[in-house]
Amino acid sequence: MISQVVFLILFGTAVYFFVKNIGKIRRNILLGKDQDLTDNKAARWRNMALMALGQKRMFDRPVSAFFHILIYVGFILINLEVLEIFIDGAAGTHRFFEVYLGDFYFFLIGFFEVLALGVFIAAVAFLVRRYITKVPRLRHPDLEGFPLKDATLILVIELVLMGAVLIMNITDVELQSQAWLPVSMWFAPFVETMDASALHSMERFAWWSHLVGILLFLNYLPFSKHFHIITAFPNTWYASLNPKGKFENMASVQQEVTLMMDPSAQPPDGYEPPTSFGVKDVFDLSWKNLLDAYSCTECGRCTSDCPANTTGKLLSPRRVVMQVRDRLEEVGRNIDKHGNDFKDDKDLHSYISAEELWACTTCNACVQACPVQINPMEIIYDMRQYLVMEKSEAPTELNGMFTNLENNGAPWQFSAMDRGNWAKES
Ligand code: SF4
Ligand code: SF4
Repeated sequence: MISQVVFLILFGTAVYFFVKNIGKIRRNILLGKDQDLTDNKAARWRNMALMALGQKRMFDRPVSAFFHILIYVGFILINLEVLEIFIDGAAGTHRFFEVYLGDFYFFLIGFFEVLALGVFIAAVAFLVRRYITKVPRLRHPDLEGFPLKDATLILVIELVLMGAVLIMNITDVELQSQAWLPVSMWFAPFVETMDASALHSMERFAWWSHLVGILLFLNYLPFSKHFHIITAFPNTWYASLNPKGKFENMASVQQEVTLMMDPSAQPPDGYEPPTSFGVKDVFDLSWKNLLDAYSCTECGRCTSDCPANTTGKLLSPRRVVMQVRDRLEEVGRNIDKHGNDFKDDKDLHSYISAEELWACTTCNACVQACPVQINPMEIIYDMRQYLVMEKSEAPTELNGMFTNLENNGAPWQFSAMDRGNWAKES
């Protein structure tokens, strides 16, 4: 009875804080501007099935895809066993489904054990890639500090959770079921000399460790890059279906120009002149850009494919996305403390420098590389628009072109009157 009460308190507290933190993230995402991305639903479901469920882009790099799929499939299917742990915790039963499923139960548990071993091996492989072979994109300066610790902690938690599953089975088999399990059987000799009380304590310790580990992990997710296991699904559903490289027309600019060029033009009903152009802070990004920021896995595929980064420029598209999330989190904390009308002296440009923004070639390689269809380039050029249109801060190379556009209606230094000269006979 006491253990049921402890379980219910732990479970209720964990769910309460998880829901509360998810609510804050939802609020932060909705600080972004409206964008309707609900057209062509069939294509969107198909895209999500391919990109999030099927992890299509991951397979551009087969080694990491293989280990990632081991963790992904293992984690999803082992949750069926977690369901039993929760039922046992609430009802005070032990292996609730065994009575109902008979021999099939142990077939399932054996299958979960193999998956747990797969997850264990994959987590070790990922640690090796980070700390021993030091894959450059996983030890990039972008990840200094919390991001590297975060990635490591996630892998360690996965090792602990999978270890706890295996210890539960090893001790339980020895204690009572004597079932043949494909992974536990190899470890049985290590515990066969232990008496029943020691085995029982070990089994309970592993059971509680697994349970508490899952609840802690659940509550760590909203603060971690691992949150992508949730957001990857909506992020791919709402991803742009447009061909890459298609620039959206800036409706606000077009409207202003139309009104300026045609004195007889009437503004549409309810028209409000824009207060600013481009992106100064997270509020000027769309809600989808902000969902992107919460979906970043920090894998660095975008940065390792970015021609600006690989030729030594300051720009890293991964860092751009990470900085959007950091700034958004900061804004969220300010709202929690001071309310919606808080003022601080920072904006997104305090996090991402003009040098980074102007290093972008707008090649779309980062968009193509991203396994969860994040678009760092959109953030970059919207921030550039702010620099040009609001601050008149453009690199000198561009200023000549802007003058030509203004004077000649074309980027070249020729009068519009001379455009047809090329066709004249010499
Ligand atoms: S679009 Fe810009 S940020 Fe993205 S890969 Fe190309 S140069 Fe890098
Ligand atoms: S933006 Fe995409 S490719 Fe770049 S680090 Fe994040 S998840 Fe990886």
